[in-house]
Amino acid sequence: MPADTRKGLKFVVVDDDQMILNLQAKLLMKAGHSVVCENDSTKAMTQIRAERPDCVITDLMMPGVTGYQIVTDIKADADLKETSVIVVSAKAFDFDRRQALKMGADGFFQKPIDPKTYAKAIEDILSDTIEMTPWGVRGTLPVAGERALRYGGNTSCVSLRFPRNRTFIFDAGTGIKELSNAVLARDGGKLAAKIFISHPHWDHINALPFFVPLYIAGNEFEILGVSHPHATTRELISAQMDDVYFPITLKEFGARVYFRDIEEGTYTIDGIAVTTMLLSHPGNCLGYRIDYHGRSVCYVTDNELFLPDSPHYNLRYVEDLARFVSGTDALITDCTYLDEDYPSRVGWGHSCVSQVVDLAARAEVKTLYLVHHDPDQNDAAIDAKLASAQEQLAKANPAVSCLAPQEGETFKI
Ligand SMILES: [Zn+2]
Ligand SMILES: [Zn+2]
Repeated sequence: MPADTRKGLKFVVVDDDQMILNLQAKLLMKAGHSVVCENDSTKAMTQIRAERPDCVITDLMMPGVTGYQIVTDIKADADLKETSVIVVSAKAFDFDRRQALKMGADGFFQKPIDPKTYAKAIEDILSDTIEMTPWGVRGTLPVAGERALRYGGNTSCVSLRFPRNRTFIFDAGTGIKELSNAVLARDGGKLAAKIFISHPHWDHINALPFFVPLYIAGNEFEILGVSHPHATTRELISAQMDDVYFPITLKEFGARVYFRDIEEGTYTIDGIAVTTMLLSHPGNCLGYRIDYHGRSVCYVTDNELFLPDSPHYNLRYVEDLARFVSGTDALITDCTYLDEDYPSRVGWGHSCVSQVVDLAARAEVKTLYLVHHDPDQNDAAIDAKLASAQEQLAKANPAVSCLAPQEGETFKI
């Protein structure tokens, strides 16, 4: 269930500038919250321990005790483990933003304060929702023109935004260019994110060099994926940027970029549980399950679920995968083909409607998101595929909802 914006919260606001302090208090109270003000940072912790607020909003640069110290003290106090902290500062340095989040702040808000948006921005930081946005829902090749006006024509890319400015990106098909534009428009391109690669087929990596935040100094990325027998994730990504194929190399990234090989297993990444499973696809291909505060999202593509009468059908794999995605709030998965188009494409590494429906029904997923559409399908064909999936699900497990997301559509989870 999406966590709604929380109302009626109790705040302690710490700022040595009385005018700014009063402004914040006024805006928060107008939005229905209660506020205790403190303009002497040396008394702030006593006040916070007495009030045990839902959230402390603190300035960074204050005489006596700095905002950093307040964040550290709150995070070290077991009695305040339910208290969130947001740093509000006029400091525009990326270092301070990162430092505050590293110390455990739940958000960083840059002054000046805009009275029109301030309360909403604070509430958004505290809302604890996961924002899931598919930026490319096509597989294999991007599709231009009339065929792709509604669902969009870009290849694989999905982003998840968590509270505390944490962003996970799955795959870097051409959809990542749309995400790049969105990040530039929203934050001037500032971003720290984890980029998970399912596998190195072109439609999952080839637009990475067009992701502008990679060229912005101060940004930080970790690119994670499964290695192949003779190539690490770094080598798989850098090979497509070899100067024969592309004029820019990894060395030209302005951001700090790290690479990490991962395998099947469970990891804690940015404080969030990430579980991986190798999928049924040519070469190594990883599916991801993200669990966060009682909710989960599974990104499972590319993946071929053979028909039960096929010699390649592997019930054990189907059961393992159903366990992997069991009960998830959002299963984003490869449903490339209509059932009638699949027989001539067996062994290409992609699934058709009936087997995706079978998986979602077995696993009792909450919502099934169909992606990785065949490039020869137009919007109407995707409509027909969705209708077929919904019809089959109504019989197999009517509790599962099913949709075909459009590029750029955001879902709150
Ligand atoms: Zn693909
Ligand atoms: Zn593939």
